[in-house]
Amino acid sequence: MRTDVHNHTCHFSPDAKMTIDKLISTAVKRNLDIVAVTEHFEYDNPDPNDNIQTFDLKEYSDAFRKWRKLCPPTLQLLQGVEFGYQTHTAEAIDKFAQHKDLDIVLLSNHLFRGVDLFFSKEAYVLSAQDRNREYIAQMAEMAEKVDHFDVAAHFDYVNKFNPNQDEEILYQDCPKEFDRLFEALISKGKALEINTATPVKRHSKPDPEILKRYMQMGGKLFTLGSDAHIPQNLGTAITDFSLYLQSLGIREVCYFKRHRVFMAPLDER
Ligand SMILES: [Zn+2]
Ligand SMILES: [Zn+2]
Repeated sequence: MRTDVHNHTCHFSPDAKMTIDKLISTAVKRNLDIVAVTEHFEYDNPDPNDNIQTFDLKEYSDAFRKWRKLCPPTLQLLQGVEFGYQTHTAEAIDKFAQHKDLDIVLLSNHLFRGVDLFFSKEAYVLSAQDRNREYIAQMAEMAEKVDHFDVAAHFDYVNKFNPNQDEEILYQDCPKEFDRLFEALISKGKALEINTATPVKRHSKPDPEILKRYMQMGGKLFTLGSDAHIPQNLGTAITDFSLYLQSLGIREVCYFKRHRVFMAPLDER
């Protein structure tokens, strides 16, 4: 089964350029079975120049009802959101995330000391270990404070805009922080996302030690997401990453419908 459960369209995510028509036709072309649209939703975005904010859920649900009718029977479209987490917005996220229309809720940490990593001047003067440790500690807090989410997204976002392409995030950089994050995810039945965007950009794969430790602690739920904002990236490397996960003994990933988890066996089709 081919799943891609992290994507954005231009209809609700201001930084995306993909229309729903393009998303659907590309998903069909790339033999995807399950695709989630997970539009950005940010309370109190600290960047005044960034127009990623919140949107009206009723409008989104209305649009989604129409979008589902555009899909062939071979493609399931899931209605999701990607929340940008901040400590003071945890409660608001938790409340909104419970809405019955939502299939899948991603929680993301896009900020470093209150600034999006895309603009951060502080993050990339630190050592890789200090930066990664601080970022994963914030993700652990996010997973502890919010209850009504399904997936912790892109733990490697911290290095997405790192000018030093050799610096990746490694388990050994911050074992305590990763363990804290995994403990929260596993005890709450939440999934760990394998986001293909950063590794594809760097021609790499996530550190296997991160995934192995998650499984060793009892983690069984992984999702795959290309985080596409343009059609070219939709489903990118899903085959390649499926093979990588299988090489680590992972036989299935998962997706969520109305917050209920469903397992999806990996295949390399
Ligand atoms: Zn994100
Ligand atoms: Zn995203």
